[in-house]
Amino acid sequence: MRIAILAETRPGETRVAATPDSVKALIKAGAQVSVETGAGAHADFPDSAYEAAGATLAARKAALKDADALFAVRRPDDSVISALKPGAVLVGLLEPHGASDFAAVCAKAGVNALAMEYTPRITRAQSMDALSSQSNLAGYRAVVEASALYGRAFPMMMTAAGTIAAARVFVMGVGVAGLQAIATARRLGAIVTATDVRPAAKEQVASLGAKFVAVEDEEFKAAETAGGYAREMSETYKAKQAELVASHILKQDVIITTALIPGRPAPRLLTKAMVDTMKPSSVIIDIAAANGGNCELTRSGEVIVHNGVKIAGYGDLPARLPADSSSLLARNLVHLYPLLRAEDGALAPHWDDDIIKGMALTRDGEVVHPALKGDGS
Ligand code: NAD
Repeated sequence: MRIAILAETRPGETRVAATPDSVKALIKAGAQVSVETGAGAHADFPDSAYEAAGATLAARKAALKDADALFAVRRPDDSVISALKPGAVLVGLLEPHGASDFAAVCAKAGVNALAMEYTPRITRAQSMDALSSQSNLAGYRAVVEASALYGRAFPMMMTAAGTIAAARVFVMGVGVAGLQAIATARRLGAIVTATDVRPAAKEQVASLGAKFVAVEDEEFKAAETAGGYAREMSETYKAKQAELVASHILKQDVIITTALIPGRPAPRLLTKAMVDTMKPSSVIIDIAAANGGNCELTRSGEVIVHNGVKIAGYGDLPARLPADSSSLLARNLVHLYPLLRAEDGALAPHWDDDIIKGMALTRDGEVVHPALKGDGS
C-alpha cells in the first residue's frame, strides 16, 4: 500500500500528517510512503529526516501518483481529490459537519473519505483519536497564550519588594482541552476553578486540584450522552448557569472557554454584559472560536480588546505547536493503518469495523455517512 503525504496548503497550517518516526513505523508495517518535498518544514522535520526514515521524496503530483491512501491534516482541495485514483482512501481532519459538497466531490472521484473527527469514542479507538490528541495540545497552548497576554504573573510571588497575588483562572468546558488547561494553569501556580454540564467532570476537576463550579440540578445529572459528549442544555438551565457564571467571573483574571456540542454551534456562555463586569486586565481565550465561540465578543482568528479585557479567538492552537501536534496526529494515523490494509499489505479498508464505519463519509462512489446523506447544506 502506497501512502502519500502532502504539504498542507491552508493558510496558517503548520502541521504535517507524517513525521520521520511515523514514516518508519508505517514502512515497518509494510507501507511505502511518498512525502512531498518540504512537507514537514513548518514542523521542523527536514526532507533529509524523511528520506533517512525510508520515505520517497517527490514533487506534489508525483507523490500523489498511484497513491492508495492520502494522509492529510486538513481537508485537501478538490484538485487533490481528483488527482487520487478511484478506490483510494483519504484520511484527515475533514471538517465533516455539513460537508455535503465535499463528500459529493469525493464520491464522484471514487475516493473513500474517512473523517478523523468521527473516530468513535471507544477504548479501542483511543490511540487513533485525533480530536483528543489535538485538543490536549490546544488546552495547554491556550494557557501559555493567556499567560503571554496577561500583564501579570500566574503564581503567587512573595518578594522583598512585596507580594504578587496568584492569578485566578476559570476553565469553562472540561473535556480533553479543558482538563489540560486546568493542569497547565495549576502547574503555573494559578488558583483554578472550572465548570461543565457533565457530572463526570466534577471528579476530574477535583483530581487536578481545581474547584468545580456548576449548577448541579436534575438536568445536569443527565447531560452526558452515551457517546461521552454533552447535550445541548435547556433554556432554563442556561439561565441558571448564566447567573452562576456572572457572579463567578467578577473575581477571575483569565477565562479559558472550550465548551462544544457535536454538530451544533458552540454554546454561548459569556455575553457582552458579562464581559463588561470583568476586570480590565483580564484575558479570555476562546478555544471554541472556530465553532462560533463561547463568548459573544469573540472574533475567530483575532485578539480584540473590550474595556481592557483581551479576548483571543485563536483557531490554530495545535498549529502553534507544530512538532508535537504533527507527531501525535501522525501516531493516530499509524494506529489506524492496520484497519486500512489486508494481511498482504494491500489497500483494503475494514468496512465492517465500527471504527471505519464511524469515520466513513464516502464509500465506492456513494456518500455513506448518515449525517451527510440527504443533507443539503
Ligand atoms: P468537547 O470538545 O465535545 O466539549 C468540551 C467540553 O465542553 C465537554 O466537556 C462538554 O461537556 C463541555 N460543554 C458542552 N456544553 C457546555 C455548557 N453549556 N457549559 C459548560 N460546558 C459545556 O469534549 P471532549 O473534549 O471531546 O470530551 C468529552 C468527553 O469525552 C470527556 O469526558 C473526554 O474525556 C471523553 N473522551 C473519551 C474518549 C474515548 O473514550 N475514546 C476520547 C476522547 C474524549
